[in-house]
Amino acid sequence: MPKFFLQTFGCQMNVNDSEKVAGLLMADGYERAARAEEADFVFINTCAVREKAAEKLYHAVGRLKGLKRRRPGLRIGVGGCVAQLHGAAVLRRAPAVDVLVGPRNLARVPALLRRVRAEPRSMIDLDRRADSFDVPSSAVAHSSPVRAYVTVMEGCNHVCSFCVVPRTRGPEACRPARHVVAEVASLVARGFPEVMLLGQTVNAYRDGDVDFAGLLRLVHDVPGLERLRFTTSHPGHVTPRLADALRDLPRVCPYLHLPVQSGSDRILASMRRGYTRRQYVETVALLRGRVGDLALSSDVIVGYPGEAEADFQATMDLVDEVGFEGLFVFAYSPRPGTTAFRLRDDLPEEEKRRRVAVLNGHQQRLQQRRNAARVGSRAQVLVDAIAGPGRVAGRTPHFRIVHFAGSGELLGRTVEVEITAAGPNSLTGRLPIDSLTGASSAPIL
Ligand code: SF4
Repeated sequence: MPKFFLQTFGCQMNVNDSEKVAGLLMADGYERAARAEEADFVFINTCAVREKAAEKLYHAVGRLKGLKRRRPGLRIGVGGCVAQLHGAAVLRRAPAVDVLVGPRNLARVPALLRRVRAEPRSMIDLDRRADSFDVPSSAVAHSSPVRAYVTVMEGCNHVCSFCVVPRTRGPEACRPARHVVAEVASLVARGFPEVMLLGQTVNAYRDGDVDFAGLLRLVHDVPGLERLRFTTSHPGHVTPRLADALRDLPRVCPYLHLPVQSGSDRILASMRRGYTRRQYVETVALLRGRVGDLALSSDVIVGYPGEAEADFQATMDLVDEVGFEGLFVFAYSPRPGTTAFRLRDDLPEEEKRRRVAVLNGHQQRLQQRRNAARVGSRAQVLVDAIAGPGRVAGRTPHFRIVHFAGSGELLGRTVEVEITAAGPNSLTGRLPIDSLTGASSAPIL
């Protein structure tokens, strides 16, 4: 049997795309290789959000060039956002690449691979009008046995100045709600307790009269589903209906990733995010007013063109004011094709790194303090990974990671865990002695 090896960079949407490519290759007679050296086809699914991520592609292909010389039958595929953004230039810079596909054309990878095996020339498919949803659910090779990703929409209608996504994934395209519900039902039937709905701006979803809150209600009612999550939400599409859905639907987890990017109105305006700091804070208040115990995480870009120390301090203040559970801090990097690319990237890299370190350090201290207060409480943990010999890990409904002693038999099960220790990024616990009797006096997280 021929073998394939996949390498994925970037977000959950890319992970889900790679799961689709893996499933389609398996249906075409391939099996998964543990290493690129054993594979007949290596596929690199790329991310263009950061400059470094794009460079990673060329380094990866550079490493594979030597392998291809030793094994002339090896074929190399490149997909995702760098493929879409750079187009045929990828082939000029990396002529070892045989198959080049955009994020909307991944379903065609097996057919293109068959063609490059028959004809000695590279194949390109970058048609942004293609329907990327036409991969049957049964063909997706999910990477987790517990949490299944389901892409509900592609692309983005926003124009954030720093972002390449609208260019690489195109405008919003939503999947019919009935297809999403059918896919979730089939995943639950295959044993997945948790589903995460994916979209670049997932809460902008709409299918006729069904908005995102409506989609949550439909999916929530799929019999047997234990947990429902979604990402990524845009602050501009948070509605009272969405807040009500988070409050009223018990299987929808009380966790929201809500990128703010900056706490400075001047920078937010330049970024074209479409909201002010006050509006973001009001959105958080709306959510917390309905869902008291809501966990929020966010993305922040520091070192954006023109970001003065006062702008950075405004972001630090916002982080204090909102109190995020987690924060992903990135140093700004100019991306060709974005409007911010025309602005002078005026902050020295050293200063950007300093701001990343200051903000991360601050957030880590806040997380440590918040997590320490959880020691002694109990949490409902859905076990999703083997963390080592005799150890497992899982997530609470609020997406907090908990490690504890346990066997692989717990994988996919939700258990009550007593929290015994806390770090900034995860909790440690144990199965309580009274877990067999059901007696408990500790608060449940
Ligand atoms: S909302 Fe902005 S940052 Fe998010 S994908 Fe769309 S353009 Fe990019």
